[in-house]
Amino acid sequence: MSVPVNAGVYIHVPFCRSKCDYCSFYSVPIGALCDGERPGLFGRYVDRLIDEIRGRSDETAAYSFDTIYFGGGTPSLLGAPLVARIIDAVRSCFSPSGPDCEITLECNPEDFSVASLGEYRGAGVNRVVLGVQTLDAQLRGVIGRRAKAPDTAMLDAFFAMKDIVHCLDIITGIPGQNGGRLAHELERLLAYRPEHVSAYILSIEKDTPLARRVPDTAGLSLEQRRRFEELIVIMEESGYTHYEVSNFCVPGFESRHNMKYWTFEPYVGYGPGAHSFYGSRRLYSTQTVEEYLERPSITPVLDERGKDAAAEEFLLTGLRLRRGITRSAFEKATGSRMTDALIGEFDRLEKEGLALVVQGGGDVRFRFTLEGLFHMDGLVARLAALL
Ligand code: SF4
Repeated sequence: MSVPVNAGVYIHVPFCRSKCDYCSFYSVPIGALCDGERPGLFGRYVDRLIDEIRGRSDETAAYSFDTIYFGGGTPSLLGAPLVARIIDAVRSCFSPSGPDCEITLECNPEDFSVASLGEYRGAGVNRVVLGVQTLDAQLRGVIGRRAKAPDTAMLDAFFAMKDIVHCLDIITGIPGQNGGRLAHELERLLAYRPEHVSAYILSIEKDTPLARRVPDTAGLSLEQRRRFEELIVIMEESGYTHYEVSNFCVPGFESRHNMKYWTFEPYVGYGPGAHSFYGSRRLYSTQTVEEYLERPSITPVLDERGKDAAAEEFLLTGLRLRRGITRSAFEKATGSRMTDALIGEFDRLEKEGLALVVQGGGDVRFRFTLEGLFHMDGLVARLAALL
């Protein structure tokens, strides 16, 4: 009998209270979908999610799962009873690999309360990502983040909660954020010793309200790079491991779920727009929330990947990790041999100070230097041209 492979389960919750000015993700402000009938709307959405989880149980029959991730949008809008229903549906359709399943919920500070955190814990959530973004009221105004920042009382209560892994999402490189302001903010947050911090450089996406307010993106990107370098120094001096481009953790607290994305492990996504990945097969749904509420996509679109596309994707995701990739992992995951041309290009990148190539134990490890990470997209394109 074959042993089931562990997959990650991603649950997409595409609702937000209002749209932030920098956001280009697909999410729908709840006011556009209902007139104050939120519990009814969310209940219907969860019914559809459970239909989808059950309807695709043949597809997932060969898998157990060891992580569930509630992302969005704003998953904490659902509330603990609906989150518990989804977790139960996942458990009833495929088995957990063991007792220590990682269950992560992204939580907007507006939805936070000690009682709700306790309820989420009771539902099985053991990792909570508090979407701080920035504590600085003026910088929140710059990016059009309308919700109030978490205050000291909320942070105290969040970090006092036992038996959860405390994760923070922050944004750096906001116009007007100088080194002093960044250091002050990090000092306040790191005093709580969060086990995990995701730090994203503000991206000025086309056609967002923010892009219309910040025309000089070239000037900004130099500042952003400086801020991110300062952030890395502060995080590392504070004992955090920089394990992925945007992610830092106390050793041992990496996100197991997100590691699946970067190491080519399978994951199953539910909800409109969610992707699923099974090695060379990728499935995705193209439905809008409105279409999904009418009828979930039981059969998502199949995107069968050729070897070259899989190899490019492996480079793109695996090289985000500071530890990089090994030749053996590349060959196992993609089914392609790592060619001499590709290895030669890594050697050239090493001479340019953009990559490191380390031999050992009968294998070779390739990773980007910090300088290389700042040019990652272009470097992966250079490598992919040789596949
Ligand atoms: S809360 Fe998050 S997903 Fe929603 S609009 Fe703001 S940035 Fe986008």
